[in-house]
Amino acid sequence: MNYPNVFSPLDLGFVMLRNRIIMGSMHTGLEEKSGGFERMAVFYAERARADAGLIVTGGISPNRLGRLYPFGAKLTTKHEADKHRIITDAVHTEGGKICLQILHGGRYSYHPFAVAPSALKAPISKFRPWKMWQWTIRSTIRDFGNTAFLAKKAGYDGVEIMGSEGYLINEFIAPRTNKRMDEWGGSFENRIRFPLAIVREIKQRAGDDFLIIFRLSMLDLVEEGSSWDEVVTLAKELEKAGVHIINTGIGWHEARIPTIAATVPNGTFSWVTQMLRNAVKIPLVTSNRINTIEQADTILQNGGADLISMARPFLADPEIVKKAKEGTAHLTNTCIACNQACLDNIFSGKTASCLVNPFACNESLMLPSVPVKRKNIAVVGGGVAGLSFALQAAKRGHSVSVFERQDHIGGQFGLAARIPGKEVYSKTVSYFEENLKLYDCKIYTNTVFSINHIDEHQIDEVVIASGVRPRKINIPGIDHPKVMDYTEAILHPEKVGRKIAIIGAGGIGYDVALLLTENDQINFFDFWGIDKEYLNRGGIKKAVKAESKHTVWLMQRKEGKMGTTLGKTTGWIHRLRLKLAGVKTIPGVNYTKIDDAGLHIVYKNEKQLLPADTIIICAGQESENDTLKLLTTTSIPVNMIGGAMKAGELDAEKAIREGAELGLHI
Ligand code: NAP
Ligand code: SF4
Repeated sequence: MNYPNVFSPLDLGFVMLRNRIIMGSMHTGLEEKSGGFERMAVFYAERARADAGLIVTGGISPNRLGRLYPFGAKLTTKHEADKHRIITDAVHTEGGKICLQILHGGRYSYHPFAVAPSALKAPISKFRPWKMWQWTIRSTIRDFGNTAFLAKKAGYDGVEIMGSEGYLINEFIAPRTNKRMDEWGGSFENRIRFPLAIVREIKQRAGDDFLIIFRLSMLDLVEEGSSWDEVVTLAKELEKAGVHIINTGIGWHEARIPTIAATVPNGTFSWVTQMLRNAVKIPLVTSNRINTIEQADTILQNGGADLISMARPFLADPEIVKKAKEGTAHLTNTCIACNQACLDNIFSGKTASCLVNPFACNESLMLPSVPVKRKNIAVVGGGVAGLSFALQAAKRGHSVSVFERQDHIGGQFGLAARIPGKEVYSKTVSYFEENLKLYDCKIYTNTVFSINHIDEHQIDEVVIASGVRPRKINIPGIDHPKVMDYTEAILHPEKVGRKIAIIGAGGIGYDVALLLTENDQINFFDFWGIDKEYLNRGGIKKAVKAESKHTVWLMQRKEGKMGTTLGKTTGWIHRLRLKLAGVKTIPGVNYTKIDDAGLHIVYKNEKQLLPADTIIICAGQESENDTLKLLTTTSIPVNMIGGAMKAGELDAEKAIREGAELGLHI
């Protein structure tokens, strides 16, 4: 496939984009780190070299008050601008274009000096913002202009003004957060005065030959958000004010509707961008959950937008565009929308990376050693840890053989792919499979590794990546036929009854509960209450009730809130989905026995019987490392990675990273 729509250039008069794919803004955490600009230069240059049409940086504040957290990045001085030069030079050397995103956090700024149009606390912040004085508003407008001016001096091709997601500009636009009675609030005309003044100021300071992208919230997904008429009117005014491109923003951060998580179907929100297409003449960008070039091309072909923005897919694979251009899209490492190593890291104050690509943001740190000697290496276990190792070791010239006892590779990822919304996990497995073929790596499925294989394949070194097995727990009656472990429940949901007790409420307990209660009769929009007709402000409507036909009890022994080990940015979605499905979550239980009647527990000091017909054990894992015992009788060097080494800290991000790191240096 040659993706003709994606690869048509876009001429904006003073600037030409080589294709229609924008690498969307993504805060990396390097913006504030010592040595971070050097690392960002390598990070962005790699994406520019591989044909990204245009890159937009992570959000940079135009002043101190707008920083997302106390020492968040800002661009207010010539000295700060000079630091960006290394990034812009690196991108331009690779033939790319790059814009700086200007983001003022408004009431989402996580510090006591946060400001907003009105002193209304956001439900997701603990800080009540200060209401902006009129002079603060005027100085903030000047600050946006100053940052754009400095960005131009630093070599950027333009700026993106962050006007969505519930940040400051969006807070001025929507009646939800703008309760002012002066010239900056009240009527719609007054509420949009702030974004329009910012655009004019930037134009004046940076000139006409400087790209201005405005990220417009087209669907707020909160009460008292913008109406559709207001979105259209603002888009037209932005065009008149001189904006060159309008990007699509979907959902405020405080909205309780998922917009980018794995549960969101691909390309779900491009209909909103499409609705705006006849209203303005300038190009529109669509975004959110578009993770392949094929989908991007289809959206463009169907008239959904003029450009496509992808952020996380560029973390997962810097060469996503290049591979599609060269006809090797099947070799792409696809973003699985887990948020685990990117957004969850950022919201925990760490540097972003990518679960499926640990090299992201670490390009200059994770470099391969030159192999001293070409080795024959056996990898025991074809889960993602083993595959990740195999790929890096094979790339360096080692001869790698993977031994997998199942009839397929992928390990825990194969199981995860069976959970509703996680089907895309299978793409990670096929990525490894396809790329390993290039390096002639041998994969032996249905094969239990034994000592005989060492001689047979003249193995020099072994890597044990045999992963985990479900933990066996000790409750009287645990061998009852109504008990099964999570692997069986996921592989054979047809064997599960109508009344289900789940023991253990970690990520897997939640996943199993989701699998068993998923109601595929209700579409995404009705389930979450998204108003596709856009009759209501914010584009929301009453959600359709989605209670499951199954009775499910999800339990843990620990007291307190459940689901705390789930992802920082996605855990609320899992918890809410189970709540809507009617799953009963019970913390602080003691399991006493299992018999024909069901599961007996003690809860709040009272004995109770849960009349379950199936009891599923999701109580964590134990390491699967029998091979290690086998190899103690030999002198062969052995390495261990992933769950085989430490089941208690089983985590796909860690497993893939450990595999890659060992592969780079073995
Ligand atoms: P987990 O997170 O360690 O949870 C194990 C659960 O079993 C806990 O609720 C624990 O709670 C309970 N448990 C432990 N020992 C027990 C025992 N002897 N008897 C009864 N209950 C026991 O393990 P997991 O759910 O298998 O997940 C493994 C890893 O996979 C996670 O670390 C996560 O990284 C990953 N994962 C994440 C997600 C996600 O975030 N959506 C999904 C799937 C997997 P009590 O001890 O309080 O009873
Ligand atoms: Fe995508 Fe997950 Fe990687 Fe983030 S960590 S870029 S969501 S695969």
